[in-house]
Amino acid sequence: MVESWASSPGSRASMRANRRRDTKPELAVRKLVHATGLRYRVDFAPLHTHRRHRADLVFTRAKVAVFIDGCYWHGCPEHHRQPSANADYWAAKVAGNRDRDAQVSARLVDEGWTVLRFWEHENPTDVAAQVVEVVRG
Ligand SMILES: [Zn+2]
Repeated sequence: MVESWASSPGSRASMRANRRRDTKPELAVRKLVHATGLRYRVDFAPLHTHRRHRADLVFTRAKVAVFIDGCYWHGCPEHHRQPSANADYWAAKVAGNRDRDAQVSARLVDEGWTVLRFWEHENPTDVAAQVVEVVRG
């Protein structure tokens, strides 16, 4: 049923743009954190046993995993808008993503990791400051 999910070329393009990693906010956060001298892995699975559970920035020694969640795909309360076409499909999709996010976080915490989650709309300077504080802490 995936083929009909975007009803116009415009919405299709914006959904596609939202899907991938290396978004502008994420790059901005990475750059700011890097400038402080901290080093991290990008799009990396913190747990060997769960290779599909990738975080956006991973500090292996400090055991801190950072996720910068897309407003659209992860259902940001401020920016997520239900598309009028295939609304049920999209509601279920976003709910599924949120469930998975929660499971991934819980698993990491169980394994002794600190999990930081941010929305992509958050100010990169603030996000980077929080990341640095936790990693250095
Ligand atoms: Zn948002």
